[in-house]
Amino acid sequence: MTTDSVLDKMPMLFVGHGSPMNALEDNAFSRTWRALGATLPRPRAILCISAHWQTPGSQVTAMDAPPTIHDFGGFPQPLFDVRYAAPGSPQWAARIAQLNAQHPITADYAWGLDHGTWSVLCHMFPDAEIPVLQLSLDLAKTPAQHYQFARILAPLRDEGVLIIGSGNVVHNLRQVMWRDEAYDWAIEIDQLIAQQIEAGNHAALIDYPHLHPKMLWAVPTVEHYLPLLYILALQESTDSVSFFNEAVTLGSMSMRGVQIG
Ligand code: ZN
Repeated sequence: MTTDSVLDKMPMLFVGHGSPMNALEDNAFSRTWRALGATLPRPRAILCISAHWQTPGSQVTAMDAPPTIHDFGGFPQPLFDVRYAAPGSPQWAARIAQLNAQHPITADYAWGLDHGTWSVLCHMFPDAEIPVLQLSLDLAKTPAQHYQFARILAPLRDEGVLIIGSGNVVHNLRQVMWRDEAYDWAIEIDQLIAQQIEAGNHAALIDYPHLHPKMLWAVPTVEHYLPLLYILALQESTDSVSFFNEAVTLGSMSMRGVQIG
């Protein structure tokens, strides 16, 4: 065995993606994503678990050229004109599909890259040359089952795959204010979640509705929170943990990012 073929374990990211407009804006969040992309080891492929792709069963995008999906309404035309033309990878999709025979992952040819993925990657890896795949969120799983299931992805870190969970830890769209302000409860719960991440208290984070009396107000639906559990599930005792974009904006949206490893 030659040592030069051995890759270091890839870090992992949870990214608070926030408004799709971050794709077009040069702001504190998008600048941080650009800086991160420049400092991370260059991945062989990127696997993104986005809040915006929920399916029966687990699916992985398997097409050669995933389309850019504009899965929102009411935004300016330039946002609908954005294309993130990263290649897909049928080979990596096949690898991911067969990671664990007990948890089959279906190859998908109908989805592509939604804004949970491209609004971040257009800053992080603007050349769009690295193959990008998405893994869906299986609607039938409980948070504990997502956490358990995510562990099958562990070998990918040793194979040069950057795993990114894309959501928002605090995300109450009904309370959105379209300005850069934050409700006190949103800040408090964002920081509480950060403390639990720092403490490695994964059991409390899986059972998150009991973390705080207002938790289900701050996290009324699970899909933007679940991508965090995928990253935590793959954390090893030797991994460092750090945060980026530690801010709540639009009243009720935490932009907090987490780097593990
Ligand atoms: Zn979103």
